[in-house]
Amino acid sequence: MEVSARRAFNLMKEMAYVRVSGSLEERKAAERLLQEVESCGVKGCMEEFPVKSGKVHHARLVVTAPYVKEYEVTGYERSLSTPEGGLDGEFYYAENVLPVHLKNCQGKIVMINGRLRRTDYEKLQKAGAAAILTFSGTTLDRNSETDCDIRKLRETLTDDLGFAVALNMRAADAAEIVRRGAKQMYIEVESECMDEVSCNVCAVIEGSQYPDEIISFGAHFDSVHFSTGVYDNMSGSVIIMEILRYFAAHKPGRTLKFNWYGSEEQGLLGSKAWVKAHEDELDKHVLMINIDVAAATLGMNTAPILATEAVVGYVDALMKEHGMACGVKMDIYSSDCVPFADKGIPAINLCRFGTQGAGYIHDRRDNLKSGYLDEKALDITLQQALMLSKHVVNAKVFPIERKISDEIKGKVDEYLFKVKK
Ligand SMILES: [Zn+2]
Repeated sequence: MEVSARRAFNLMKEMAYVRVSGSLEERKAAERLLQEVESCGVKGCMEEFPVKSGKVHHARLVVTAPYVKEYEVTGYERSLSTPEGGLDGEFYYAENVLPVHLKNCQGKIVMINGRLRRTDYEKLQKAGAAAILTFSGTTLDRNSETDCDIRKLRETLTDDLGFAVALNMRAADAAEIVRRGAKQMYIEVESECMDEVSCNVCAVIEGSQYPDEIISFGAHFDSVHFSTGVYDNMSGSVIIMEILRYFAAHKPGRTLKFNWYGSEEQGLLGSKAWVKAHEDELDKHVLMINIDVAAATLGMNTAPILATEAVVGYVDALMKEHGMACGVKMDIYSSDCVPFADKGIPAINLCRFGTQGAGYIHDRRDNLKSGYLDEKALDITLQQALMLSKHVVNAKVFPIERKISDEIKGKVDEYLFKVKK
């Protein structure tokens, strides 16, 4: 059986629906992936893991002085609820959270720029902010064409630092309240925390010559709210399915593991859970190949590598030898490769990014109707993945040293909050 971009693209179309961590839709996609694995004659299974999740039943924000106006907001999942009767507070725009801002946060409803990162969260908690407000999107967004993003107080924020009342709003509204000099506001959040179950879909093809050397292929199949996650990352999911199909028919020298990870978008929860559950076999893993985003018509192929310069040189040379265009570089990549690199396993990512104006991620535009993805473009990454796989899977001597450079180790530690910035 040879690979087929058409079959892959069609499978992607079948699963072009929102698949948020822990949801029924995520489970439905897992079942479909498992069914496809087994249709290739390979036994697969689902490995469940718990996820901390939350639902916000109700969130409101009303500016009360010097003017009165209600704005659309979403509560962060796992936000604290406001007390009965809501919360009245002074509004303060702390921009990029400099020390001068922190002097003014005590007891206030504090808005900051950009994402809520752990360093800023820590500062705001210590400064005694009564609630945290973020904004998303752009000031040009039309409400009818965009969504007010739903965010989450992840464990990486709340661990040691505790919970907070947190809300998100649209950038245009955030600009308006600052411009109009909002001083006082009223907020309400009714939020519930819960434990849910997410899962990974896993399959193994035993190696015929070097069964104790394991190469694992990974791709996450969950999406974020509002996004059908075709580009991010059903595209990668269907590519590794083709790779599985190929090696089911052409028995590999080394043992191959295929993992479709759930809950990647919530902080790599699926791959972290997998690495933890398979701790005792990790020393047999010689390489991880991860595919996260592909199929963009107008785009570029890159291969961020978490290993050594020698691996960068090897992959770069292979791409050149085969006349394949791929920008190979040593770098961390925010995806399921990270928990593997953290355990000393070299990881190669293959991705095709949509170029500016032709790549949409993490919102409703990541959708087949947006017209930025196609089968031919998906085939580029599929062929690169197949070429690389054929080389490493059956190499007489494994060509990749099991080593992570200090540069990458440092970036991984920082990414996983092991070191303070
Ligand atoms: Zn992704």
